Amino acid sequence: MYHSLWWRDLKYLDKGEGDCAKDWFVNKLAREVGNGKETLLWVDPWLEGKSLKGLYPDLFRKAGNKNDKVGDLSTSQNGGLFWNGSWEVSLDTEEARKEEELKDKIQSFSLRDNVRDRWKWFKNDYSVKEAYCAIMKEITNVRIEDRELAAAWSKLVPLKVSTLVWRIWQNRIPSRDNLVSIGILVASQNSCPYGCGSEENVSHIFFECLLAWIAWSEVLRWLDFISVSHNSAVQNFVQFAGLSSGGRVIIERFCVIWFACIWVIWKRRNEKIFRNSENSSSVCLEDIEMLSWRWLRANIKGFSYSLNQWISNPKICLGWRGGTMT
Ligand SMILES: [Zn+2]
Repeated sequence: MYHSLWWRDLKYLDKGEGDCAKDWFVNKLAREVGNGKETLLWVDPWLEGKSLKGLYPDLFRKAGNKNDKVGDLSTSQNGGLFWNGSWEVSLDTEEARKEEELKDKIQSFSLRDNVRDRWKWFKNDYSVKEAYCAIMKEITNVRIEDRELAAAWSKLVPLKVSTLVWRIWQNRIPSRDNLVSIGILVASQNSCPYGCGSEENVSHIFFECLLAWIAWSEVLRWLDFISVSHNSAVQNFVQFAGLSSGGRVIIERFCVIWFACIWVIWKRRNEKIFRNSENSSSVCLEDIEMLSWRWLRANIKGFSYSLNQWISNPKICLGWRGGTMT
């Protein structure tokens, strides 16, 4: 069984061994300081690709304010950073020597007023977006056997969709709250990219935020249901599957719509983050109808309904008991 690094590290994170996950990211990512306002002085790997906490663990233990930003430091006359940090406990001789070394190092470092801090991937000049895509690529390569969550591995949807759903069900997607908990984002960056003011977590992305809420409402209206949707991803799926009428085969086909809705919401969310594109919610339902139709056609022999037939009466196309063509 193959586990990607990302997956394994998130597993450690669940067991409270968060530093391991953090180390993995810190080893792959470096912080490039601009104005220093969004970079944690002690924790982020901004000096030679390392964190001060890692370089000077003894000093970190005695540091007065562990949440200071790099931008909180003063600037010396020659433009370099000037150490004005305070200590909770006075330093011993060896620590004082290290403090001098630290002062020397940061002296050659200058802030750039109008430049925002950002993450760099490895030693190359990658943006957060590319780091993110690399992480997503690892995620899609993951293969896990888990009988309980077997429903995610529907034969009727692309593998990447199953993988996403499987991860959503276990809260293992790079939502902002997860990125904060492993230290790739700072706590103040945890909010929903749509600007609604809530923390971005799995429930919020897929069920609570306005875009998701509209998407599900439209899907249910298309299918002629009025239903309150659960905001836990697994339970929402179970609830949705329960709306179906018919045997196992029909339920599996029906659930393709659920997968399509999840996929479209996730794609929209990523477009919003990486391209800042705005899409109207009505386009959402069209995409869900189109995708689910394509997946059904591609994976079920004899499913030869046209897109129009699918849109106007999905229940007939699914072989639903009592479904009528209007
Ligand atoms: Zn939101």
